[in-house]
Amino acid sequence: MQPFAYTRVASSQEAIRLGAREGARFLGGGTNLVDLMRLDVEAPDELVDLAGGEPDGIERLADGGVRIGAGVRNADLAHDAYIRQAYPVLSQAVLSGASAQVRNLATTAGNLLQRTRCVYFRDAAMPCNKRDPGSGCPAQDGYNRNLAILGTSAHCLASNPSDMSVAMLALDAGLQLSSSAGERTLPLAGFHCLPGNTPERETRLKAGELITHVCLPAPPADAGMLYVKLRDRASFEFALASAAAVVAVADGRIRHVRLALGGVGTVPWRAHHAERELLGHAPGPALFDAAARTELAAAQLRDGTRFKGELARRCIVHALERAVAMSGRGRATP
Ligand SMILES: Cc1cc2nc3c(=O)[nH]c(=O)nc-3n(C[C@H](O)[C@H](O)[C@H](O)COP(=O)(O)OP(=O)(O)OC[C@H]3O[C@@H](n4cnc5c(N)ncnc54)[C@H](O)[C@@H]3O)c2cc1C
Repeated sequence: MQPFAYTRVASSQEAIRLGAREGARFLGGGTNLVDLMRLDVEAPDELVDLAGGEPDGIERLADGGVRIGAGVRNADLAHDAYIRQAYPVLSQAVLSGASAQVRNLATTAGNLLQRTRCVYFRDAAMPCNKRDPGSGCPAQDGYNRNLAILGTSAHCLASNPSDMSVAMLALDAGLQLSSSAGERTLPLAGFHCLPGNTPERETRLKAGELITHVCLPAPPADAGMLYVKLRDRASFEFALASAAAVVAVADGRIRHVRLALGGVGTVPWRAHHAERELLGHAPGPALFDAAARTELAAAQLRDGTRFKGELARRCIVHALERAVAMSGRGRATP
């Protein structure tokens, strides 16, 4: 581990000022960044600890939406009474991730920005285009069982590991960002970048830019929502395939649908193709299956990831079936 400077800030303004310095990195709960520093994958010159200096409340908005401070701990978000009642898919996704101890420390912004668990990325002795651009991607023909099948490139297959991001994508989340250049907002959809030729570029965040809040619009009326996560063991494990479904049915037709996938994409994956196939139609197993197959038609399956096509299909169908069954029945967390 390289030596580094450490400052705990008292305000977002101070964080932005210090975060603009060359080699500085923001520290949320540190459950990802400090891990990567120990592995020599990350080596910041300075850590700007946001604890106490970034928004950490969940504010209900007049329109029924919420504004979540970037510093809200994963556990506090998942157990918040309004989040559980109005956005159960988010609570479920967060609680499906990591462990109680990690969730007590990890922050909302840190979760959205956590980095891939690809074994080649996390091993500083191995080539990796994301960590060391141009060095190669041994995952293409190597160990890739937990990597992506959607959005991959010849330069990178790394899957995005965040469960929270998948649920937030299905809830049409938006990000509030702040830097010395001012404030701006971005939809979460499109915030994470596909690897293409530049896998080292993971998000649209600019250098030194701080996430201050995540905003969720009011939940769609009568929507059923569910997060389904399939993994090698029932807890403390990342998704092999996951799906967040938010579906509202009225008069026998799907009137609103958001479907997002985890574990299978190089970014948290919004299933636009499936959504288009579902919207306006009468829900049922054949429709769900067709929509899942349409979304997965572009999947790039390799020896290690071949099983993921079928796993993701089943995951999508199950999430849609359950979300549709809950539509119009209130939103108690199952
Ligand atoms: C053993 C283990 C198992 C896990 N299992 C899962 C799992 O199943 N599912 C899952 O989703 N996650 C899982 N995780 C990952 C965990 O959710 C993340 O480590 C955590 O959410 C990161 O949050 P943090 O606040 O600790 O981030 P940090 O490590 O502090 O930061 C992560 C990144 O975000 C940046 N950052 C932090 N805050 C801001 C901000 N406000 N503005 C701009 N940049 C910022 C940092 O600079 C850094 O680049 C697991 C982690 C561990 C250790």
